[in-house]
Amino acid sequence: DRQLVWFRSDLRIEDHRALAHARRRGPVIAVVIRSQKQWASHDRGPNWFDFWQRGVAALAQSLNVLNIPLIMLDIDHFADIPSKLISFAQRNECGTIHFNDEYGLDERRRDQGVVQQARRHNLTVERHTDHVLFRPGDLLTGKGEYYSVYTPFYKAWLRNLTADQLHQDDAPQAQTPIAGISTTLLDDMPAAAEHIMRQWPAGEAAAQDRLAHFLTRRVQHYAEQRDFPAVDGTSQLSPHLALGMISIRQALNAAASMNEGRLGDGHQGITTWINELVWREFYQHILVAAPRVSMHQPFKENTRHLKWLNERTHFKAWCEGRTGYPLVDAAMRQLTATGWMHNRLRMLTATFLSKHLLTDWRWGEAFFMNHLLDGELGANNGGWQWAASTGTDSAPYFRVFNPVTQSERFDKNGDFIAQWVPELASVPAKQRHFPDAATRSRCGYPAPIVDHKAARLRAIEAFKALPSDD
Ligand code: FAD
Repeated sequence: DRQLVWFRSDLRIEDHRALAHARRRGPVIAVVIRSQKQWASHDRGPNWFDFWQRGVAALAQSLNVLNIPLIMLDIDHFADIPSKLISFAQRNECGTIHFNDEYGLDERRRDQGVVQQARRHNLTVERHTDHVLFRPGDLLTGKGEYYSVYTPFYKAWLRNLTADQLHQDDAPQAQTPIAGISTTLLDDMPAAAEHIMRQWPAGEAAAQDRLAHFLTRRVQHYAEQRDFPAVDGTSQLSPHLALGMISIRQALNAAASMNEGRLGDGHQGITTWINELVWREFYQHILVAAPRVSMHQPFKENTRHLKWLNERTHFKAWCEGRTGYPLVDAAMRQLTATGWMHNRLRMLTATFLSKHLLTDWRWGEAFFMNHLLDGELGANNGGWQWAASTGTDSAPYFRVFNPVTQSERFDKNGDFIAQWVPELASVPAKQRHFPDAATRSRCGYPAPIVDHKAARLRAIEAFKALPSDD
């Protein structure tokens, strides 16, 4: 019996739960669905489209070696997927549809629709847990609730993890070619800039190269260097992880193998990195625990009432990297130029927008999504809500990063600023963090759009005015 494997954010053949399982059952036909309008409504932009498209092309090549045809369907809206996917399966004589679960609300509704319609047409759907080690709902507190604080989640994750969950499936063996169906892709989407494609090669091989490079060269110093944006101290694997060009098990097992198989103790660089991978999983669980976060609602419900200022000129200055705070501006320019931003700077720029500019975090969330190659609802929404103090385990609202001291601490020599704010490159390093008025006017660098102290107080007052959590 033919099996249909639907690839989504899991663009690989190695250690792919749905593919491995389906192939054991019979010959496989693969499908991938392009939903441009739906994705645009999720704020996805050209960098992500392009990375996805290149990832699909790489996947098609790998599948080709296995004689598995990959067909791309163009279905703009998720709502239309169930009926079209079912007719595709029927036309191609596939009795079972396999896929790996995704956890955003729209994705879950879409998949539920597929399950319901398949039942009506006597097709079987097999869903697999692949993106995370624990299926959301399988790791709960003693009270049977989802964790809303990270550290106990992390501890429970470590404590309950079994070898089975970490087991990796090999890519399947090649099958006998299926007559009458061949790979068909559509590749007419807007491409990213040439330098972005060079910096971010897509596909499984590229992801494995990155992982190997990180583990041999960087992880040793990860714990000390991960907070310094001028240093290439992190893995830069987020785009590949977000689209599943590498599996979470591959990442965890490779890291653990350099640490005598341990995940939670031992080498500090490795355990710190693994801890970040568990944050990724935490936010996937939150998507299911609190569906409201997929609907533009804050996790902390009382923060719905926050009086945002939403000053458009301020938002525009933030987007364009012209706030007058050099590290914030450097970060925003890195994002728009490369499609990626360092984690320390995501926290800083998100705090700056939501606190200093008292601008609705959802504006920033959407702007990030529109530019990031690694844009991913769980992590992006989780990160934004953390920074805006509206989320799980958030920064307390009265803790507002000082963008100048952050700069002095994390970009001590002003190297990152010099790279991304060239106007200030010739200013002595010490003054680069917050140049005086004369220097600004000489260099053509803008005056600060808000005063840190006043803006901080204004934000704290706005939060104080909220009704208490009930
Ligand atoms: P590394 O430091 O090498 O970490 C390894 C992996 O762990 C990452 O690739 C990522 O998959 C995961 N990870 C690390 N930190 C986090 C975190 N805080 N939350 C969830 N997962 C994490 N990450 C995304 O993948 N997509 C997003 O859209 C995204 N948006 C963010 C928005 C804000 C406001 C903030 C504060 C953080 C966001 N992050 C997002 C998390 C984090 O900044 C990036 O994952 C990280 O910077 C990617 O770089 P890296 O691959 O070199 O990370």
